[in-house]
Amino acid sequence: MSWRATVLTLFPEMFPGPLGVSLAGRALTSDIWQLDVRDIRASATDKHRSVDDTPAGGGPGMVLRADILAAAIDAVGQDTSSPRLLMSPRGRPLTQTRVVELAEGPGPLIVCGRFEGVDQRVIEARGLEEVSIGDYVLSGGELGAMVLIDACIRLLPGVMGKLASGTEESFSDGLLEYPQYTRPQTFEGHGIPDVLTSGDHARVEAWRRAQAESLTRSRRPDLWAARNGSRTPKNTTDG
Ligand code: SAH
Repeated sequence: MSWRATVLTLFPEMFPGPLGVSLAGRALTSDIWQLDVRDIRASATDKHRSVDDTPAGGGPGMVLRADILAAAIDAVGQDTSSPRLLMSPRGRPLTQTRVVELAEGPGPLIVCGRFEGVDQRVIEARGLEEVSIGDYVLSGGELGAMVLIDACIRLLPGVMGKLASGTEESFSDGLLEYPQYTRPQTFEGHGIPDVLTSGDHARVEAWRRAQAESLTRSRRPDLWAARNGSRTPKNTTDG
């Protein structure tokens, strides 16, 4: 069975969208992954097919109903080993580490919120893991789901040309990637760093490492600190 993303959305027409082109699109056509998009509205029960209602306690906007969303989740009949995610600005921020885990699994079910969000009770009753793609607010979870799926797909076996290209890039070792260069040899008067054309692989590697470290230190002190923190030798008296 190939990796499968199941997406619950009020706007199924948004898919596959950008996931239908380039690497992801080709992998979809060749069945390396599958996309199962379900319309949450199909689980609506009243004659207006309504899915949302006003927030208890008052306030602006509308909230996705717990009963409708739970019915939509249950209708998938997904096996319990698949993670169930809810795109949410309150969620744990998505990281490359989590992306790798999700890519190694059977593929997640992803609920896309809309309006002011979803009723808290369905999050708890269906054990939804809230995932954020960053500290800003989108109008719906669909673009977030696409971001998450895209990041997973490029790691699936057979998707990227070269196996190694997934293991050296940004975040793989808690570092941002070193700068890349290609032809022409001279661009607007600027050459390519000599070391990269030296043919000396050990020197190239050392240069790239140093560049990755200094970039990470200056641009992402948070990543740099976390990386060094996690590498501090453990005190042997620790439990
Ligand atoms: N009122 C909510 C925001 C709702 S935005 C709040 O303040 O927390 C509507 C939907 O967009 C959310 O339910 C979620 O599914 C999606 N969304 C918005 N921002 C997101 C983000 N940063 N990451 C992931 N999903 C997001």
